[in-house]
Amino acid sequence: MVLKKIIWLIDTTTYTKEIDKELREIKRNYFRIKKHVRHTTLGEHIEPKTRTFSYGLLRIATILTHNGIESEYIHHYDIDDKLNSSAPDLVAFSTVCPTVGLADSLMQKIRAKYPTTQFAIGGPHINVAYKKTQSRYPNFNIYCNRSDIEAAEMIAQKALANPTGEYVNFDLLPYSIKEYQINTCTTLGCSFSCKYCQDNHVCYKEINNDGHLSYLVNHLEARTCVHFCDSVLGGTAQRLLNVCSNISKTNHDFLLSCDMRAEMVNYETVEALKKAGFCEVRLGIETTDSEVLKMNNRSLGKEVFIKAINMLRKHSNIYITMYSVLGLPGSTVQSCDDTARFFSKMLDKKAVDEIKNCIYVPYPKDSVEYNNVHIETDNWANYDRQSFPVYSLPTMTSREIWNAYLKTGRIINKYWMKGQGISDISEISNNTYNEYISSSYAVI
Ligand code: SF4
Repeated sequence: MVLKKIIWLIDTTTYTKEIDKELREIKRNYFRIKKHVRHTTLGEHIEPKTRTFSYGLLRIATILTHNGIESEYIHHYDIDDKLNSSAPDLVAFSTVCPTVGLADSLMQKIRAKYPTTQFAIGGPHINVAYKKTQSRYPNFNIYCNRSDIEAAEMIAQKALANPTGEYVNFDLLPYSIKEYQINTCTTLGCSFSCKYCQDNHVCYKEINNDGHLSYLVNHLEARTCVHFCDSVLGGTAQRLLNVCSNISKTNHDFLLSCDMRAEMVNYETVEALKKAGFCEVRLGIETTDSEVLKMNNRSLGKEVFIKAINMLRKHSNIYITMYSVLGLPGSTVQSCDDTARFFSKMLDKKAVDEIKNCIYVPYPKDSVEYNNVHIETDNWANYDRQSFPVYSLPTMTSREIWNAYLKTGRIINKYWMKGQGISDISEISNNTYNEYISSSYAVI
C-alpha cells in the first residue's frame, strides 16, 4: 500500500504592519480621498477585499494536484485551526522579505507539535537571498530558490509533469474566489531592468493569454475590481494588444486595472485597453530627476510620462494612477522636493487621478552589493515600503528620506483634494477603503 503524503502550502506573503503615527494620519486621509475619487470617477463598484493569495503558491498547488499529489493551501492566519489534524509530511512556506521571520516562528510552532515533519521555505525573497536566508534561518530542510514547476519538484522531491491548460486552479484556494482581492496576470517577471526593482529577478515568462478572465467571468460579480499584476501588461506592446483582444472576447463586466510602461502608451494600445474594459492604468515615474533615473537604469523620463498621460486623457476616460518610489540612490532633499512639486501640479490640474508614493527598499540579495547605499538595519521585518528607511545615502540621511516621504504624502493629499474641488477633508465621507487599511496597516 502506498501512503499518501500530506503537504501543507502556507501562504505567508501577507502581513499586518504597524506604521508610524504621523504616516498613519497621512494614510488615513489618503484612503479617504481615494475612496471618494474612485467612486466619483469609476462609479459604484465592489470594493477590494482584504484577503489576497500568492499566485506562485497557487501555481505550485495546481502542479502538485495535476500530478496526483494532494496539498492543502493554508493562510498563515488560519494555522491554529490545522494543528489538531494529522501530522503533515512536509510544510512549505511562501514568503516575502518582511515575513521570513514569521515563517520561521510558525515552523518552530508546527515542529514542536509534529517533530518528524519536514519544512521548506521559498518565495520571491529566497529567490534572490538564498544564502543569506539559509545562514540567518538555518532550521528549514529545503530552501527553495526556484519558481513554478521547479519549485513544485523541490517540494514533491521528484520529477513532475507540467500541466497544460489552466495555469492556476482557483478552486484550490481555501476560500471562495469571491472572498479575495483578485490579482491575476499573463506574464511572470519583467523584461526591463530598473536597478531598484525585484521583478526582473524572476525569469520572464508568458503564461496565459487573458489573465484567466474566461474563468473569472463565471465566478465573480459584476463590477468587481480585477487587477492585472503583470509587471508590464502583456510584457511587450505587441503582446499587450493580443492580451487585450483576448480579454475583450470574454464579455466581462469587471473594472480592470493594470501596470504598464509609459512608452507603451500610444493610440493603438489605448484603444485596445478601452476595448478590453480597462478602467485604470498605473504608470511609474519614481522621480523627476533624470540623473537619479539614469543611475538606477530607469530609461524613462518625465517627458515620456507626460506624453503618455496626455494620450490617455485625450483618447479615454481611463483612471490614471502614478507610482513613485522615493529615495532612490542619487536622490537629494532638493530632488525629492522637485518631484513633490511636480506631483502637486499633476494632481492640481487633474492630469492624473491618483499618486501612490512609497519608499525605496534595498532588498537583501546574495549577488548584489548596493553602491552608494548604506544599510542601517538588517531587521528584515522593516524591509517594507511604508517603514522608516532601512538605509541612508551619501546624499541623504535616513531621517531626511523619511521626512521627505512624509512631506510628499502631505503634498499629495493636499493637491489631490484641491484638484477635486475639496477644500477640507471634513467635506468628504469619513469612510476609507478599509480593506486596504486593515490588510496593510495595523489599526488605523
Ligand atoms: S520598475 Fe517596472 S519596468 Fe522596471 S523592472 Fe520593475 S516592473 Fe519592470
